[in-house]
Amino acid sequence: MQIRPRCKTTKRRLWHFHGGLKLAEHKESSTGRPIARAAIPSRLILPLQQHLGEAARPRVAVGERVLKGQLIAAPHGPVSSPVHASTSGVVVAIGHFPVPHPSGLAAPCIVIEADGEDRWAELPPPMEDYRKRDPAALLERINDAGIVGMGGATFPTGVKLDPGPEHPIKTLILNGAECEPYISCDDMLMRERARRILAGVNILKHILQPKQCLIGIEDNKPEAIEALCTEVTGHGVTDIQVVTIPTLYPSGGEKQLTRILTGEEVPRNGLPAQIGVVCHNVATAAAVADAVLDGKPLISRIVTVTGQGIGEPGNFDTLIGTPAADLIAQAGGYTDQVARLILGGPMMGFTLHTDAVPVTKGTNCLLAANAAEAPSGEPARPCIRCGECARVCPARLLPQQMYWYARCKDLEKVQDYNLFDCIECGCCSHVCPSHIPLVQYFRYAKTESWAQEEEKRKSDRARERHQARLARLERLAQERKARLRKKKAVLHKGDAGGEGAERDAKKAAIEAAMKRVAEKKATQKSQPRNMENLTEAQQRKLEAVDARRRNAAARKDPEAEPAAQDQE
Ligand code: SF4
Ligand code: SF4
Repeated sequence: MQIRPRCKTTKRRLWHFHGGLKLAEHKESSTGRPIARAAIPSRLILPLQQHLGEAARPRVAVGERVLKGQLIAAPHGPVSSPVHASTSGVVVAIGHFPVPHPSGLAAPCIVIEADGEDRWAELPPPMEDYRKRDPAALLERINDAGIVGMGGATFPTGVKLDPGPEHPIKTLILNGAECEPYISCDDMLMRERARRILAGVNILKHILQPKQCLIGIEDNKPEAIEALCTEVTGHGVTDIQVVTIPTLYPSGGEKQLTRILTGEEVPRNGLPAQIGVVCHNVATAAAVADAVLDGKPLISRIVTVTGQGIGEPGNFDTLIGTPAADLIAQAGGYTDQVARLILGGPMMGFTLHTDAVPVTKGTNCLLAANAAEAPSGEPARPCIRCGECARVCPARLLPQQMYWYARCKDLEKVQDYNLFDCIECGCCSHVCPSHIPLVQYFRYAKTESWAQEEEKRKSDRARERHQARLARLERLAQERKARLRKKKAVLHKGDAGGEGAERDAKKAAIEAAMKRVAEKKATQKSQPRNMENLTEAQQRKLEAVDARRRNAAARKDPEAEPAAQDQE
C-alpha cells in the first residue's frame, strides 16, 4: 500500500519526456530499517579517480601516517577533485588495485591501513555566516572538500556550480527522483536527513541566485516527500518547492527531470546550464552542507546493499574506500542465491568481477542479484527493425541505427546519431525482442570515441611541441647568425681604423727598447771599470775580453785603436 504524504507538495504543471518505462521497484527490502553506520574496515582503498575529469595526484608517501579528513591526493587540472583519508591510519601502498569499472581493470589507488582511532585532522573553520560570503569562497570550500555529483555522474560539483556569467541560472533543481529499481539511498537520506539537505540547498541557492528552486521526488517515496515538506513548511521557507512527480523510469535523468519540471528541453549535446538550469542530487546538497557548515570533506556516503543474494539488505553510511566485500559482510553476507554482483541498479549498473573493489564517491548501490533478478541474457539475435528501442528512448535517439554503426566501429557515424546524448538508461536493451545488448555497444562506442579523442589530443600536443621546438631552434640559429654578423662588422671596422695605430705603437716600442740598449752600452763604455776588488786572474780575463772587443771593432773600423797588442 502506498502512503500518501500528509504534507502538501507544490502543485505545478508537469511535462512528459519521451519514452521511459514503468518498472518493478524492488525498493522495500532495503528501506525497512534505518540507515546503519558501516564499521571502519581494516584497509581502505581510495582510487585517485573517483570523478569525471583528470585523476588526482598523491600527496602522501607509503609509510606516512594520515588523519581522518586529511588531503591525500590533490586535484590535477581544471576538472578534477581531491581525495581525503576516510579514517586515520598509515599509508601502506600506492599502486594499481581493482576499482569499480566495467572494464574490470585496475587503477591507481592509495591504500590506508586503519589504526582504529578514527582521529580527525584539523578541519577548515565552519562557514555558518555563508550568506555574507562571496560565492567564490564557497566554491573554493566545495572544491577543496572533494564533492562530486553523488547521483552517479561524479562530475565535480564546484565546476558545475560555476556556469559562468554567460549562463545566468533561473532554476535550481534538486534531484530526489531516484528512479532506478532497488536503489534507495537517496530515499533514506531524504527521510532521515531532510534538514541537512535543505541546509545544502540554501547554500547552493546563495551561490547560484536562481529565481526558483524545485525539489523533484517521485511519488513512490511518500516518507521522503513528507520529511522534506515538513522541513520546508516548518521553517517557513517559501522559495523552495517540493514537487511530486510520477514514477517513471528514467525521470531521475538530469535532462528528463528538467523537462518534467520546467517543460524545457536541454539542447542536443548541451548542458542544462545553457537553458538556465542547474540540477544537483539531494545527497550532493547534504555533502555541500557538511563541507560549508562543518568543514568536512566528502569521505563517506550512503550505499544501498540489496538483492536476493544479500542476507540483510539495507542502507549503510559507508566510508569511501571500504571494500565491497566488507560492506556485504555487514549486510548479512551473501545468500546461496547470489548469481551476480552489480554496482548500481539493474538498468544502469554493471557487473563487478570481484567484491574486492572499494566503495567510491559515486557508488550508490551494490546489488547481489539472484538468477531471476539478473538473467544471464539470451543470445542476441539479428535486429528485426521493430522500432521498440526508439519508442522507449528518453533521449529521442535511434538506438537501432547507433547499434548498427557501433557494431561496424564507424565511430563518426554513430556520433552523428548523437551517441553522447545517450544516458545509458538501458530502456532500449530492456525492450529489445532480439535481446541485443544495445547499451553495451553504446558504452563501447563512447569509450572508443574518448580514447580516439584523447589520442588525437595527445598527437596534437606532440605536434605543437615539435613545432615549438623547431621554431625555437630556428630562432636560436638566427640569433647566432646575427651575433656573428655583428662581430665581423666590429673586426672590419678595426681593420679600417685601428691597425695602423697598433703598428705604429709596436714600432715605437721597438725603437724605445733599442734606444735603451744603446744608452746602456754607451754608459758602460764611458764608466771606468773598478778593478780594485778583482783578483788578478779576473782582471786578466776582463782585459782579454776588452781586447777582443777592441780588435773586433778595429776590424770593422780600421781607424779604431788596436788594443790587445798595445797592452801586451
Ligand atoms: S528493439 Fe531491437 S530488434 Fe527492435 S529495432 Fe531496436 S534493436 Fe532492432
Ligand atoms: S540507453 Fe541510450 S539509446 Fe538506449 S534508451 Fe537509453 S538513452 Fe536511448
